[in-house]
Amino acid sequence: MEQSALVEEVGHRLARAGLRWTAGRREVVAIFESAQAPLSMQDLQDRAREARVPLSSLYRIVSDLVAANVLVRLEFEEGFARFELVEELAKHHHHLVCVECGTVEDFEGPGLPDLEQAVDDAMRSIARRHRFAVRNHRLDFFGTCATCTGA
Ligand SMILES: [Zn+2]
Ligand SMILES: [Zn+2]
Repeated sequence: MEQSALVEEVGHRLARAGLRWTAGRREVVAIFESAQAPLSMQDLQDRAREARVPLSSLYRIVSDLVAANVLVRLEFEEGFARFELVEELAKHHHHLVCVECGTVEDFEGPGLPDLEQAVDDAMRSIARRHRFAVRNHRLDFFGTCATCTGA
């Protein structure tokens, strides 16, 4: 989504939740927009410090943005939460999750049209069999990153 369209759509979502576009919320959305991976609260704190967002309000801002359906909370492992922009606000992508160090990396479908096509085909036939109306999919790969495998 283009930056101006993103700002507008986030504005709508905040308004529906009865929230205003405050400077702190703008900064946090901008941080997520430029992130190449889902962010943990620790990642977010590091970036917020640089952006001069008061750390004291960070948890509140994140929970407000989750409530407004701007951010989604991802749980890859028990007790290990990360956040990213909801699918409609971000480009469709998948995750590479390292089970050793916990790093999470995004990868996109474009450039991998065969993958998205295969997932779509599988989704359609599974949906038909189960009479399930699919809206979207999530596909995450779990394993060890290059650093952890020493490759
Ligand atoms: Zn790793
Ligand atoms: Zn996909």
